Amino acid sequence: MPELPEVETVRRSLNESTCDRSIISSEILLERTIAYPENQKEFNSGLQGTKILGWHRRGKYLLAELNNKSWLGVHLRMTGKLLWCDRSLEIHKHTRVRIYFEDKQELRFNDQRTFGQMWLVPIGAIPADIISGIAKMGMEPFDLHFNYEYLQTKLAKSDRPIKNSLLDQTVLAGIGNIYADESLFLSGIHPQAKSNQLTETQLERLCRAIKQVLSDGIAHGGTTFSDFEDIAGEKGNYIHSAWVFRRTGQACRVCDTTIERIKLGGRSTHFCPNCQPFICNAPSK
Ligand SMILES: [Zn+2]
Repeated sequence: MPELPEVETVRRSLNESTCDRSIISSEILLERTIAYPENQKEFNSGLQGTKILGWHRRGKYLLAELNNKSWLGVHLRMTGKLLWCDRSLEIHKHTRVRIYFEDKQELRFNDQRTFGQMWLVPIGAIPADIISGIAKMGMEPFDLHFNYEYLQTKLAKSDRPIKNSLLDQTVLAGIGNIYADESLFLSGIHPQAKSNQLTETQLERLCRAIKQVLSDGIAHGGTTFSDFEDIAGEKGNYIHSAWVFRRTGQACRVCDTTIERIKLGGRSTHFCPNCQPFICNAPSK
């Protein structure tokens, strides 16, 4: 699933290509891709004649601000891809939505697994009014207020494994399986460590590591995992430099210990048992 760095990579490309061009019309090839409004005709008529002023990102959501004070929201989920292309490009069997721009350009939504969604947030509403995932979302990792105290407060009542907490979008926005494993490695924290037993020092290291791995991911243009491609079909290359993710059985890049894999919350979790020892901290009094 595309995570924050992949979605951010797409956002930046969309800003370069789609802004300030009139939307002529749109076509919905798979109805359930449109999560809102229920009436598909309202989606099409709402987009018609608008222009995109700019793309924003909240967690893994892409949000296009339209010039009539409405918003277009997109979540890529597992396999969604936005493609900026010439309208004459042959459509793919997984094409779900087509948005036609002037000059024969098109923003195309391809999605093999069909979990991806789009919302047209009506004039006068804000994305959080319509998109429940945004209303409940935790802080952005690059928010200036994101620090260990924030995590400490959010995790105070949770004894679930820290890996599971990092995947919870109501705790922190935008992190998925790859960058959760990577940031736990960089901060030397075992993925099964109980969330509310982490020390201030550990949480401080974790905050720094999260920002570090996400920045590295963005710098590499995202990762190739899950066939991620940006809107021009370019692949990212973060995965080649991953510390632990999908490196089960290989030597740790730091200490040569064999990387292990366990399942947590149904997700494969990769870690180095030497760099990330399982320490059970005494419960705080
Ligand atoms: Zn190691």
